[in-house]
Amino acid sequence: MTDTAIPGVALLIDGQFVQSKTTQWRNVVNPATQQVLARVPMATSDEVAAAIAAAKAAFPAWRKTPIGARARIFLKYQQLIRDNMKSLAATLTAEQGKTLADAEGDVFRGLEVVEHAAGIGNLQLGELANNVAGGVDTYTLLQPLGVCAGITPFNFPAMIPLWMFPMAIACGNTFVLKPSEQDPMVTMQLVELALQAGIPKGVLNVVHGAADVVDALCDHPDIKAISFVGSTRVGTHVYQRASLAGKRVQCMMGAKNHAIVMPDANKEQTLNALVGASFGAAGQRCMAVSVAVLVGQARQWLPDLVAKARTLKIGAGADNLDLGPVISCTAKERIEGLIARGQQEGATLALDGRQLELPAHLRQGNFVGPTIFAGVKPGMSIYEQEIFGPVLCVAEADTLDEAIALINANPNGNGTAIFTQSGAAARKFKEDIDVGQVGVNVPIPVPVPMFSFTGSRASKLGDLGPYGKQVVLFYTQTKTITERWFDDQTTAGGVNTTISLR
Ligand code: NAD
Repeated sequence: MTDTAIPGVALLIDGQFVQSKTTQWRNVVNPATQQVLARVPMATSDEVAAAIAAAKAAFPAWRKTPIGARARIFLKYQQLIRDNMKSLAATLTAEQGKTLADAEGDVFRGLEVVEHAAGIGNLQLGELANNVAGGVDTYTLLQPLGVCAGITPFNFPAMIPLWMFPMAIACGNTFVLKPSEQDPMVTMQLVELALQAGIPKGVLNVVHGAADVVDALCDHPDIKAISFVGSTRVGTHVYQRASLAGKRVQCMMGAKNHAIVMPDANKEQTLNALVGASFGAAGQRCMAVSVAVLVGQARQWLPDLVAKARTLKIGAGADNLDLGPVISCTAKERIEGLIARGQQEGATLALDGRQLELPAHLRQGNFVGPTIFAGVKPGMSIYEQEIFGPVLCVAEADTLDEAIALINANPNGNGTAIFTQSGAAARKFKEDIDVGQVGVNVPIPVPVPMFSFTGSRASKLGDLGPYGKQVVLFYTQTKTITERWFDDQTTAGGVNTTISLR
C-alpha cells in the first residue's frame, strides 16, 4: 500500500486516462534521493481485460486505415517528441536516475524508431511475381495481426516502448503496453503525446503491473503477438508461456558483453570508449561493456583504465555529471553483494565503487561508483552473472583466437566489440565471433532503426528483432495470393487433376 495523497499513474483504456480501482500500488521513487514521485497501480484483471477488449474493438477500423494516414500520425508524433524533449528527459531522469544528457539519448534513440515508423509506406510492401504460370500472378500482402502487446524493462523507459508500439501500430495493429512498474512516468508522457499526434481511441492502451499482468497478457487469446525486453529469467518465462498460448513472441534479454582490446588499438580512444560504455547509465544498459579482454601487451593498459574510470563524477542524474544512481535499493544491494563475491572468489578489486563520498542530499541515493575487477575468469560469479551495475570485469588473453574462444564460450550473444587498428584482426573477429551485434572500434553497437536489433543466443528468443525490416515481418502475417483472370472467351484446358498450375 502507498500514500493516497501521492498522484497515481493512469491506465489508458479505450482512449481514456483512468485511475485504477486496484488496492495494490507501488511507489515510483527518485533513485538519487528516495523521493516518492508517484504511485503505480497493479491493474486488476478486469482492467487488463478492458484494455485488450478496447484494442480488439479498434482493430477492424484501424487495419483498414490507409497507410498514408497511419504514416502521417508518426510524422506528427516525431515532431511532438522533439518539441517535448527537455521535459521528457527531466521526467526520465527523475524516475530512472540516468543523467539528463543520457536521458535525451534514451528519448532520441526511440525517436529514431518513430521516424522509421513514419516511413511505413516504404516498409510494409509485399512482393509480386508476374506470370508464374500461364496467366497467373503471385503476390504477397503483409497484413496486421490484430492486438499486439509490449512488456518493457526499467532501463530505457523511453526508447524501448518506442521500439514497440509505433512500428506495431504503423503496421495496422492495435496495442496494449505494459511499461516497467519501476519508472512508468516518462512512458506515459510519450503515450499522451502519441494520442495528441492522432492515434485513435483503443488503438493504443496501457496497463500497469508486474508478474500477474504480464501473465494475463501471455494467456489472453485475443493477443496475437508479444514483444518483450527485460531479463533472461523473465523473458524465458514470457516466451514459453505466450508461445504455449499460440502467440508470436520476441524476447530481447540479458547480456554479458565483451570488448576485445588488441595491443595495436588507438589507446586513448579505446580507454575512453571502454570507460563510457562500462559505466555510462551506471552500467544499466543491455549493451554495456561488462567484460574487457586485454590481449597481449594491452594487459599493461589496466592502470590507465583504472585511472580514467576514477575521474568519472557521480551525482544525481539532474546534476548531469558522468553517472547517476542505480534504479533501486535492491539493485544496489545486489551489485554490492556481487562485488563482495568477486573478492571472495579471487578476482582483484582494482577500483572499488562502494563507500562513496556524497553530498548530504544524496546520501540516501542508490549510488555505486565505477568498479573494476582484474584477473576475472569464467566460473566466478561476477563473470557468470549479468551484474547490471557500474562494474567492469577485466580478463586477459594471449592471442585474438583465445579472446574469441572466451566470448564464444559465454552463453550470451547481445553485443561485442573489438578495438584494433588492424583490418585483418577486425575481419577475423567479425567472421568468427558468435554474437549478434558486433562493433569495430564502436563499444555499443546498437543498430540504427533501418537495421534491426539482432542480439543472439541466450540474449534473445524468437527469430525476428525489434524495429527495422525484421519487425515489419514480426508485426504482420504474410498472405500469399495466387491469381488468375480469364478472358471471357477462355475455355481451353479441361479438368486438371494434377498439382501443376496450368
Ligand atoms: P525484468 O525482467 O525484471 O522486467 C521486465 C518486465 O517484466 C517488466 O515490465 C516487469 O514488470 C516484468 N516482470 C518482472 N518480473 C516478472 C515475472 N516474474 N513474471 C512476469 N513478468 C515479470 O527486467 P528489468 O530489470 O526491468 O530490466 C533489466 C534487464 O533487461 C537486464 O537483464 C537487461 O539486460 C535487459 N534488457 C535487455 C535488452 C535487450 O535488448 N536485449 C534491452 C534492455 C534491457
